Amino acid sequence: MGAATMAEVGISPAGAPAYFQRELETLPRAALRALQLERLRATVRDAHRHVPLHRARLDAAGCAPDDIACLDDIVHLPFTQKSDLRDHYPFGLLARPREELARIHASSGTTGKPTVVGYTRGDLDNWADLMARSYVTAGVLRGDVVHNAYGYGLFTGGLGAHYGAERLGATVVPMSGGATERQVALIVDFGARVLCATPSYALAIAEMAEQQGVDLRASALAIGMFGAEPWSDAMRTEIESRLGIKAIDIYGLSEIMGPGVACECGCQAGLHGWEDHFLFEVIDPETGRPVPEGQAGELVITTLTKEALPMLRYRTRDITRVTTAPCDCGRTHLRILRITGRNDDMLIIRGVNVYPSQIEAVLVGQAGIAPHYLLIVERRGILDHVTVEVEAQPGVDPATYDDLARQTVHHIKSLVGITTDVVVTQPGGIARSQGKAVRVRDLRKKGA
Ligand SMILES: [Zn+2]
Repeated sequence: MGAATMAEVGISPAGAPAYFQRELETLPRAALRALQLERLRATVRDAHRHVPLHRARLDAAGCAPDDIACLDDIVHLPFTQKSDLRDHYPFGLLARPREELARIHASSGTTGKPTVVGYTRGDLDNWADLMARSYVTAGVLRGDVVHNAYGYGLFTGGLGAHYGAERLGATVVPMSGGATERQVALIVDFGARVLCATPSYALAIAEMAEQQGVDLRASALAIGMFGAEPWSDAMRTEIESRLGIKAIDIYGLSEIMGPGVACECGCQAGLHGWEDHFLFEVIDPETGRPVPEGQAGELVITTLTKEALPMLRYRTRDITRVTTAPCDCGRTHLRILRITGRNDDMLIIRGVNVYPSQIEAVLVGQAGIAPHYLLIVERRGILDHVTVEVEAQPGVDPATYDDLARQTVHHIKSLVGITTDVVVTQPGGIARSQGKAVRVRDLRKKGA
């Protein structure tokens, strides 16, 4: 399991980098790749032996597990998609008997069956280690109070963040989402140094504190671990200034593990993807072929240590770039540049590709406008049409809302390149999320 010695955990002279698993986190890249190859072979062998879907696809592609001679051979392996999990609901992709599962998580599907994932005791152990590693990477120390506002339950966010903080030796406050007024009080009373939440909920907490006249910037809060939804750099700046913290981006997905697949270090220059447990690729989403390092494409992840649910070349739908350039923190694991869009979220508006985060970046930077918004997409005749509902900041004269709207239309047009309608509502007019924010209502889809 490779737990860190206590001396390594968050006790470092001021300024020196702290690691949770120093040796693994700073492994020279050649050694890291050798470890990946060994683990990839074992994973493919395991998937071939125990999961009928993987066996059938590997056989059809003519890939024998023992044929993998180098990491580049991964391009010959078939992809796995979210629909595969749905099609084999609930336990069809497990490589271990159901009796060996220590826990099950599931994500609620908006259509049809949920996506179910399972973990052995060993999987949970690795997950806790990787989350603890992510905390330390973000600057969290043993003994810190970690206020966990991720939802507890079938969603992986709550329990993932919880057990990682316990593994590190932090003091966890298992708050979950909701009861925002109480969140503010407990953050202050318990002296939380770390806040775990979706970025949109962190903003809701900041807003609640301001309404109550509580200055969280003066509290012990110093680090935010924010993930589970794409967010822009403009949103990061906004949250950092309103909470007086360093806002760290953390990435994960239940199909692969949950939170802690990748996490930013203090350099905030990309998220270190934990390559001893995962193999990351970036592909052209159209052709499925790998793109050169540094070029944008779809992130594809293969698990290297998962026992219950090995995933071969899982297509995340997340669009990003990676770099293996050395990082100032000393970690050798590649960095995934901040994911600001998902393929599924991309809107094609009159032929222009738009991610909601691009519009978010415009809204967050604008005077008089609060960073709460909803994009409504509909079809008018044969054309796609976007209405941006956004809130005015408290104290802004309602008589100026129309002017604000006109300015926002202009900014979106010049910075994003699409024409929208903008409706400015009074403060509080947009529903606050307590978990993953709903930023887009696409009326072109059935049931939206
Ligand atoms: Zn780093």
